[in-house]
Amino acid sequence: MLVTTILNSIEKRKGFVYGKARMGLDSEGNKRIEIPIIPRRNSKASCSNCGLACRSYDRLPERCFEYVPLWGIAVVLVYAMRRVMCPECGVKVERVPWASGKSPITSSLAIFLADWAKVLSWQEVARRFGVNWRQVFESVRHVVTYGLSHRDLSGVTAIGVDEIQCGHGHRYLTVVYQLCGGTRRLLYVGKDREAVSLSAFFDEMGAPWCAGVRHACSDMWKAYLKVIRERLPNAVHILDRFHIVKLLNEAVDKVRREEDCALRKKGLDLLKGLKYVFLKRPENLTPGQQEALMGIMGQRWLRSVRAYLWKEKFQLFWEYTSPFWAQRYLRRWCKGAMRSRLAPIKKFVKTIRSHEDLIMNWFKAKKLYSSGAVEGMNRKINLVTRKAYGYKSHEVLKIALFHTLGHLPEPEMTHRF
Ligand SMILES: [Zn+2]
Repeated sequence: MLVTTILNSIEKRKGFVYGKARMGLDSEGNKRIEIPIIPRRNSKASCSNCGLACRSYDRLPERCFEYVPLWGIAVVLVYAMRRVMCPECGVKVERVPWASGKSPITSSLAIFLADWAKVLSWQEVARRFGVNWRQVFESVRHVVTYGLSHRDLSGVTAIGVDEIQCGHGHRYLTVVYQLCGGTRRLLYVGKDREAVSLSAFFDEMGAPWCAGVRHACSDMWKAYLKVIRERLPNAVHILDRFHIVKLLNEAVDKVRREEDCALRKKGLDLLKGLKYVFLKRPENLTPGQQEALMGIMGQRWLRSVRAYLWKEKFQLFWEYTSPFWAQRYLRRWCKGAMRSRLAPIKKFVKTIRSHEDLIMNWFKAKKLYSSGAVEGMNRKINLVTRKAYGYKSHEVLKIALFHTLGHLPEPEMTHRF
């Protein structure tokens, strides 16, 4: 069977025929299969600007378009682009169905590489298929761009808003994701964590869409609180459990760090290696950690132990079903914790008190948005940003995030490789 016969059966192109495949060499002397493409006689070319079928004007020198490798050998389609005389746009290069814009990669290869980029790192994809990192990026971008312009965002009634720290220093991203229905998908990625980072998304979606949002979860970041209040008129705004627990954990950890430091100066290492013992839920501790916890609990004079106990008491708050009793418990807890003489815990109390309404909304939303959904999404996003440490630009990170978490529709392919 000829290679062109195979190509014709998986990817027939109207107006073009495949010529005879030949073995050739690339610029570095590696073997490759070259398949010429010839326009059918009397077929018209399409203007790349408006798509109109026009008379061709002249032809440019041959160009190579990389195709999916066969048996580990690179495959290129070779074609001399025609220029057209478009009555609307003037002299333009033609539009070809196997690649978009000036890309040297065929759409088939782009979809193929992007598919692999979901399971392997971009570096690894590049290595395995003999392309460079840039080409893998371009492929993923091709697929993501298609997905973003074809996705359906209607019917989204619950969203989560989060800030993600990435890289060194204080670089942040604002992300919005869907919390309703069967899918948890990424809807938006914006630069920084300013009010405009978030309002740009609502601008993009328009007022009718915003009016359809019934629940919005976020952390306590001021800029988000303000934008959500102003832009989502029908949404119950919930400060979700995950972010509150995280904040309290940070307070406990701060107490431990300061105390550990002070103890070490006196030559005591009582708190050594106990970071996660204090932070984890007791039911998640390993047997060794459980033992360590039992041991340290005897030392009630330790500030870290007291902070831990306040944290555990706070946990009961989430168990309530009635908003009334939950609120009563919360207020009592706050009152007690204010007398704890632990500065980080007191600071947490102040934050809780000033956001009590929004925290209580969690109960009003009938605990619909458990911390699991928000936490799971937060973790996934962090995983991508960490893996993407080398992605210096915002653009690259954004593409990577949408590719893995956007649940985007993919361009159709006549053949799945
Ligand atoms: Zn045109």
